[in-house]
Amino acid sequence: MAVYSADLNDIQFTLFKVLKVQERSTAFSEGDLKDILEQFTKFVAGEIYPTRVEGDHVGVKLTPKGVVVPPSFKPLKEAFYANGWYGLGYPEDIGGIPAPQSVALACNGLAVGANVAFTMYYGLTQGCMNVILKVGSTEQKDKYVPMMMEGRWGGTMCLTEAGAGSDVGAGSSTAIPAGENLYKIKGTKIFISSGDNDLYENIIHLVLARTPGAPEGTKGLSLFIVPKMKIAADGTSLVPNGVVCSKVEEKMGIHGSATCVINFGQDGESLGEMIGKEGEGIQNMFIMMNEARLLCGMQGEAQANLAYEMTKKYAKERVQFGVEIEKHSDVRRMLLKMRSTSRALRALNYYVGDLIDRENAGDHGAGAELALLTPICKSMGSDEGFNVSVDAVQVHGGYGYCTEYEVEQFVRDTKIATIYEGTNGIQAIDFVMRKILKDQGKTFSLLAKKMVATLSTKEVQTQFASEAKMMGEHMEQAQKIVEHFGQCVMNKKANLVLQNANDFLWYCGSMVLNWRLMDAAVVALREKGQTPEEQAFLQTKIDDVRFFSRFVLPKNYGLARQILISDLDLLTTVI
Ligand SMILES: Cc1cc2nc3c(=O)[nH]c(=O)nc-3n(C[C@H](O)[C@H](O)[C@H](O)COP(=O)(O)OP(=O)(O)OC[C@H]3O[C@@H](n4cnc5c(N)ncnc54)[C@H](O)[C@@H]3O)c2cc1C
Repeated sequence: MAVYSADLNDIQFTLFKVLKVQERSTAFSEGDLKDILEQFTKFVAGEIYPTRVEGDHVGVKLTPKGVVVPPSFKPLKEAFYANGWYGLGYPEDIGGIPAPQSVALACNGLAVGANVAFTMYYGLTQGCMNVILKVGSTEQKDKYVPMMMEGRWGGTMCLTEAGAGSDVGAGSSTAIPAGENLYKIKGTKIFISSGDNDLYENIIHLVLARTPGAPEGTKGLSLFIVPKMKIAADGTSLVPNGVVCSKVEEKMGIHGSATCVINFGQDGESLGEMIGKEGEGIQNMFIMMNEARLLCGMQGEAQANLAYEMTKKYAKERVQFGVEIEKHSDVRRMLLKMRSTSRALRALNYYVGDLIDRENAGDHGAGAELALLTPICKSMGSDEGFNVSVDAVQVHGGYGYCTEYEVEQFVRDTKIATIYEGTNGIQAIDFVMRKILKDQGKTFSLLAKKMVATLSTKEVQTQFASEAKMMGEHMEQAQKIVEHFGQCVMNKKANLVLQNANDFLWYCGSMVLNWRLMDAAVVALREKGQTPEEQAFLQTKIDDVRFFSRFVLPKNYGLARQILISDLDLLTTVI
């Protein structure tokens, strides 16, 4: 079995030296936060990682009593809640540990990297609970939140139907009023993660459905809390609520995560409570969706970082042509691509976690920046996390393609993050059409100003002059592309924008990643480093940006040309 290791040096450097997240911590000192990280890392290494391969091999099973998860997940889940990890980042008054979101997110990333399938059970529960905390009535909060905090009730999100995937507004599930905010829910939701499982006594589904006479499309959707088991007339015991899992999907990866077809109101009545206002279902579901999109990015990033750690170790041990393979240039190239990319993705995720803390503290600009960066985090994290996983297999050679070194699982487990929570194609459209053009480029310009501030530092000007020059050129071209897109839309040639949206997201995403690496390198240059080990670590931060600027970012020169000369409307071609 592979040995788990986390790059705590880089994690702490990014959080406490680059972002200085301790300045946003009201309840804990920097020392406390480091202690939380260290304790959590021990839990991940000792409890979570050892369940990863078993979860993959055993998978989930649909039985007459419901869905059974891999056996190792049950004691793990108990220990996870008993240690209080579920409540990390939540306020004390509901039983949480009020660490900054950036630190909670960093811990969660370690868990996600170590066994993504397991983390989906509590992750979806947190997402569902967050919607109830934000838009639920006092009664709904009192009824559901304590049970979820205790680990007794789990949660899901139910959007997808057979005919309504990316097009959520095509959903046809119905909600018929049944008195006192109660509705009879009827419909079939597919691909529901954690839709049924034996980890929790009860499962709280958040379901999008249409009330009678509601308009078509997303505007007509309302959101409902539909428990698998409802509270009986005696006020305490639980009785079935007509919510039945009829199938679990066989999948390429995340075998330990149950992906279910859930029927509502077809085997007995399913009663649901409306949460939020009628017709505001999609906005309220987006509370969960936006968080889940960031989590998708983290799924790619976190697995990429672990894949890199395992691959680095292998490349230092495996000898070919008389030397360790890390000494062959092509292997060194792959290792540096893996490290710089996965660290840059991590730095971006922590930056976004810090934006959430800033937004919570009343910084309104942080919210707009977060919205702009969400599709970048989701797509770059999942696409590039997948690519790093593929490189992990490549560096391991034939052993990587086999199961012994446990890296091929990363390829299978990361791929899904490019698909769910809105495919990366949908993210790109959101990024270009809504987050840039609809916003008239305002938030995009503010982000560019932050990048310019980094490029203008003394350290960058003296130590990274050629890297800064290249970044400047890419930024100029980005501005031209945005203007070009605006012209295309005005001239009713939106297809020229849509067909390039994915590449433009990558273009901007790679600049953002390079910026996060550059910020870190500036701090590394300012730090002296007390020991040879510290100095070596700081040098890796400098090498990351040197590598990424030369081997990854230059692809933008070709992309800019492709986008700007693009005059072939692909929908006029024949396939
Ligand atoms: C393992 C797994 C877990 C999941 N978990 C959940 C869950 O918990 N809850 C839930 O509700 N759903 C869940 N889903 C569903 C998931 O969110 C959808 O699969 C996803 O949104 C895509 O929908 P689709 O599969 O119907 O693909 P389609 O919508 O049919 O898309 C197929 C392709 O067409 C592209 N496409 C579609 N429309 C457009 C457009 N307008 N412009 C450009 N390209 C377009 C897509 O990008 C994609 O490449 C899960 C799916 C899987 C596989």
